[in-house]
Amino acid sequence: MDKFDFIYESGIEYFQDKLLEWYLVNGRSFPWRNKSATNYELIISEVFLQRTKAETVSKFLPVFLKKHSSWKQLGEATEAELQEITKPLGLYKQRGSRLYKLAQELKRRKGRFPKERNQIEEIPMMGQYITNAFELYVLKKKSPLLDVNMARLLERFFGERKLTDIRHDPYLQTLAYRVVNIDNSKELNWAILDYASLVCKKQKPNCLNCLIFTECRFINKI
Ligand code: SF4
Repeated sequence: MDKFDFIYESGIEYFQDKLLEWYLVNGRSFPWRNKSATNYELIISEVFLQRTKAETVSKFLPVFLKKHSSWKQLGEATEAELQEITKPLGLYKQRGSRLYKLAQELKRRKGRFPKERNQIEEIPMMGQYITNAFELYVLKKKSPLLDVNMARLLERFFGERKLTDIRHDPYLQTLAYRVVNIDNSKELNWAILDYASLVCKKQKPNCLNCLIFTECRFINKI
């Protein structure tokens, strides 16, 4: 028992089952979700997905990978080249510079990430979200891709967080880890992100056509 046992367990199971059922039919298809995607492609996609729509990254990624298909190739690019190639994503100066720092760090490390989570988080551009993605994809851990979209769906369904910053809210962090703590954690993470994007949208959530409507706190004002 811990201090967040008020998160109702039956609700978590219901949420997991319904979302996975929905994902089988409605899940979105992206290059980084292909079985053939390498760890490099998975991590670099998450880097680009920060502040950018998945559909935009999906179109951009194949172009990027033609030039930079590994940490080694990325490490050979100049800062100016990375700024130029990331122009279609917007914020290209800042993004290109940060990507350059990440590439140089991985070059120095010969493409290997450190073993300890706190050391991974210190690498440029990694941070909590991408470190979670690294754990999920590379280390096969049950870690949540907890961004604003996942947070919105979890909070509407289970109840709101207290702190502004997602990264530091103990309730939301505990909840997210519990929700994705199943064997097919990766698919459930993707299901949550897709459902938040297509149904439980920021503006005008489609509650009338929502398959978890009857148990949702947001709509039932529990
Ligand atoms: S009922 Fe509405 S708010 Fe609740 S999960 Fe469904 S779409 Fe989101």
